Amino acid sequence: MSELYDVIIVGAGPGGAMAAKVAGENGLKAALIERKKDTGVIRRICTMIMNIDERNYDEYIHWNPRGKKFVFPYNGFTINYDGPIRKVYGFHVITPGGKRVELGNVPKGKAEDKAVGYMVDKGYMCQIMIDEARDNGVDIFNNTNINQVRKEPDCVVLTDNRGSEYRGKFVIAADGVNSRIGRCLGFNRGRTFLGTYKDMARTYVGAEIPDEECLMFGLGWNCSVSLAPEIKEGYYHVAAASYNVADDLDAEIDKLLSAEPYATWFKNAKEIDHRSCCVSHIAVPIRVPFKDNVLLVGDSAWMQETSIPGAIMPGWRAAHSVTEALIDGKLNKEGISTYLKWWDKYFFQPVGKRMASSGSADMKDYLSSEDIDYLAGLVTEPLQATMNFFTIMSTIGKAFGGLLEKIGEERPDIMQKLMAMRSHPRELVLAKRCNDGCAITL
Ligand SMILES: Cc1cc2nc3c(=O)[nH]c(=O)nc-3n(C[C@H](O)[C@H](O)[C@H](O)COP(=O)(O)OP(=O)(O)OC[C@H]3O[C@@H](n4cnc5c(N)ncnc54)[C@H](O)[C@@H]3O)c2cc1C
Repeated sequence: MSELYDVIIVGAGPGGAMAAKVAGENGLKAALIERKKDTGVIRRICTMIMNIDERNYDEYIHWNPRGKKFVFPYNGFTINYDGPIRKVYGFHVITPGGKRVELGNVPKGKAEDKAVGYMVDKGYMCQIMIDEARDNGVDIFNNTNINQVRKEPDCVVLTDNRGSEYRGKFVIAADGVNSRIGRCLGFNRGRTFLGTYKDMARTYVGAEIPDEECLMFGLGWNCSVSLAPEIKEGYYHVAAASYNVADDLDAEIDKLLSAEPYATWFKNAKEIDHRSCCVSHIAVPIRVPFKDNVLLVGDSAWMQETSIPGAIMPGWRAAHSVTEALIDGKLNKEGISTYLKWWDKYFFQPVGKRMASSGSADMKDYLSSEDIDYLAGLVTEPLQATMNFFTIMSTIGKAFGGLLEKIGEERPDIMQKLMAMRSHPRELVLAKRCNDGCAITL
């Protein structure tokens, strides 16, 4: 019979790497299992921006450039990072006609040099945590894919692709958005399925982008499109995503890059990499991320974008809670209750609950590209700088709230469409997505 670990962590993304680091520092007998061969290489699409500008899940992250650490002051821990780093100053909504709504911008002078995020090498950041875990005695199994999980009276048993078994008093599942462990244990039962989402990205060199250090997000295109700098100077990332599996994301990127002003920006650019696509089955966040001594952290309990810090924080808290359970000799739900209370207070109640009712109408079903150009053209002043997705939505909503009268007077046709879009029943949105995508049982 295989040895019994205090805790086994599955998945070496930000959530699992952090959990493994804490388990090692706390002296637990721990293992980290990752299906990839190279734990420090991220192929799954991710823009890799650490959002630091404001409270996210009740944390206000800050970068310490001298100590080379990201500091999480409210939760009380740091992450060492001596890799490449770039400031990101804002989020711009871009339209097919080349209009921009700016939430922050590259500063004109030093005094205004306040970043809202930092672009990092996420794989390297995870590798630092994994190395720290290994230095503290955590066993690392890479190239190992967990495909079964079962509860026995005194442990959880994981089985890998070669049939080997691993036994843990607890398991922390940090296996990402399509969590197999979550599915095997029935965590998806009762979750509302929001659709199948696919993303892909290409990397370019030689593009000439104004205000390059901002993330640009397209509205009014057939798919979601975005442009962002990459961590390597001169490298640029163009992505497309859709809830409709029939959409050709490559064609959407081509369309974006042949429209002005993007065509001019990319005139001399060369595509050098095609970052792999990801296909995610998205459901609303899980309310209680614990069952049968398995704790879920990060995307495995969320939708697909709890974010890098949003995966690191539960990884940190879950590993501490497992430590508490072992010290107290309570190898059960009561033992790890600090994790569940923390998750409910900082993740589920303030954010997750709201997402449980997400699923808004598709803008392109109501508004033409020309309508969106008109609307974006109304916002002439830069809005509050932010990279926080929730704040972006509420800031834009507030800006348009103040413009409704003007829209009603100038373009009653658009006003009517906006009202119809607002009252579009959520069930129809979800039904369309499930028909467009593959209706699956989670
Ligand atoms: C298009 C896109 C852009 C994004 N951009 C940003 C951004 O700019 N900033 C930001 O903060 N967040 C961003 N995110 C979100 C971010 O990528 C995730 O929220 C974050 O990586 C979640 O971390 P995690 O540790 O929970 O899971 P993951 O990072 O997904 O890690 C899961 C790990 O588990 C491993 N694994 C999976 N199954 C198994 C198995 N059965 N056995 C063993 N190992 C397994 C995987 O190989 C992987 O290494 C983006 C997401 C998308 C889709």
